[in-house]
Amino acid sequence: MSFCADVITLFPELFPGPLGASVIGRGMSEGLWSLKVTQLRDFATDKHRTVDDTPAGGGPGMVLKPDILASAIDAIAPAGDARPKLLMSPRGKPLTQARVRELAAGPGAIIICGRFEGIDQRVIDARELEEVSIGDYVLAGGEVAAMVLLEAVVRLIPGVLGAVDSHADESFENGLLEYPQYTRPQTFEGADIPAVLTSGDHGKVAKWRREQSRALTRARRPDLLKD
Ligand code: SAH
Repeated sequence: MSFCADVITLFPELFPGPLGASVIGRGMSEGLWSLKVTQLRDFATDKHRTVDDTPAGGGPGMVLKPDILASAIDAIAPAGDARPKLLMSPRGKPLTQARVRELAAGPGAIIICGRFEGIDQRVIDARELEEVSIGDYVLAGGEVAAMVLLEAVVRLIPGVLGAVDSHADESFENGLLEYPQYTRPQTFEGADIPAVLTSGDHGKVAKWRREQSRALTRARRPDLLKD
């Protein structure tokens, strides 16, 4: 069974966007993963197709109504659907490569894209939505965040990238940032490729890369070394 993504959004025309390109798009045409996009507005019940209302207690902006979003979620994921229900949200748990790996090993995900000020808390609680953030900054909507999440997940699905172990060394996979990469030409603006990389000594190359990874991580992301 392949990874099955469902996205709920007010802007379905933004999809697949970058998810249709390159290896991620090819993975979709090969059936390694699928994407279904649902217009939240289709679940509105009045003639103006209203999906939002003013915040209780006052304040700026609009809030997505819980009843409309709940109907959309229930239509897409009836009871028993094993996929996690993710709500893209700056208040969520920051997305990590570890969570991405778990998602990629699962049956798929239902992803809800917020807009405006956010979403009525009651539907978050009632449908047990898992809030996921892609970083400590605020976007205008959850669509780009959903694409970030899906792109990170889909590239880990077996068969999507060429070589199976092309992720093993990558940043975050072993708790470290990746070592610097080089390719031809041998000399670029007076700078040579580090000699060890062209020495043909695989042991030395591996050791150099390990040391570079550790030094980079210590300098840039000491927080990663703590755990
Ligand atoms: N008022 C909200 C922000 C709303 S931004 C707050 O202060 O928490 C509108 C929508 O953009 C959100 O509902 C969410 O779906 C999306 N979004 C914004 N920033 C995000 C982030 N860092 N990660 C994931 N989704 C984000």
